[in-house]
Amino acid sequence: MFISGAGQTDVLVVMVRTADTGSRGISTLVIPADSPGISFGSNLEKMGWHSQPTREINFDQVRVPVANRLGKEGEGFKIAMKGLDGGRINIAACSIGTAQAAINRSQVYMLDRQQFGAPLASFQALQFKLADMVTELVAARQMVRLAAFKVDQGDHQASVYSAMAKRFATDVGFEVCNQALQIHGGYGYMQEYPLERYLRDTRVHQILEGTNEIMRLIVSRHLLTQADIEIIQ
Ligand SMILES: Cc1cc2nc3c(=O)[nH]c(=O)nc-3n(C[C@H](O)[C@H](O)[C@H](O)COP(=O)(O)OP(=O)(O)OC[C@H]3O[C@@H](n4cnc5c(N)ncnc54)[C@H](O)[C@@H]3O)c2cc1C
Repeated sequence: MFISGAGQTDVLVVMVRTADTGSRGISTLVIPADSPGISFGSNLEKMGWHSQPTREINFDQVRVPVANRLGKEGEGFKIAMKGLDGGRINIAACSIGTAQAAINRSQVYMLDRQQFGAPLASFQALQFKLADMVTELVAARQMVRLAAFKVDQGDHQASVYSAMAKRFATDVGFEVCNQALQIHGGYGYMQEYPLERYLRDTRVHQILEGTNEIMRLIVSRHLLTQADIEIIQ
């Protein structure tokens, strides 16, 4: 369900259950998208992310040769988790890029727009808002870079850093876009300006590649259920 890009790709990388042994009973298959038995649902209508199709994929008696398996049988969960670290950094980076664009737009608008005989840039409430937006964004970007560094290093805490970075950067990204929309007043709500699209596009980042609640679960489990207490610093 909700598969990004479905219907536009030549192959599908699918995690399938091959044994009844929990996370060790999942394997990864590379399946040609035009295999007999595969069908796609309609392009779902979404709040944002309109440039990318999202569809349901149905599998009905699809036969796949063993040669199409990635890794060994039962390694699927491990492979998925590895992919998700990069995927989470990717989504976090999308939030940061959009939030940066929203801040750039806000700077220009605040200097340009006149209200009560003065530019918006002269109102301290908006100056402070802009200062907070950029401060949060820089902090989020640093977290994403740190997580990407941990993934590159093969650090055993890479997954937990990716989860923290995804949670923080996507929350900050959405909030910065929301504040930028507010700075633009009524025009922020109009499609003539891109702020309402930034808001719609960044909203889903708090949901996909694992929701931000699941990110918190990953971090808290790491802190509380290891045999030896791990320190994150
Ligand atoms: C536009 C879009 C594109 C997507 N693309 C893909 C894709 O390409 N591939 C893919 O595999 N998936 C994709 N997804 C699916 C996405 O990963 C899931 O929607 C997401 O992980 C949430 O799962 P769910 O929708 O089943 O929500 P649910 O799991 O039903 O969650 C509902 C709510 O309950 C909360 N919740 C659930 N469990 C817990 C818990 N244990 N503790 C606390 N809170 C909890 C969630 O955080 C959420 O707020 C896409 C989704 C969207 C919207």
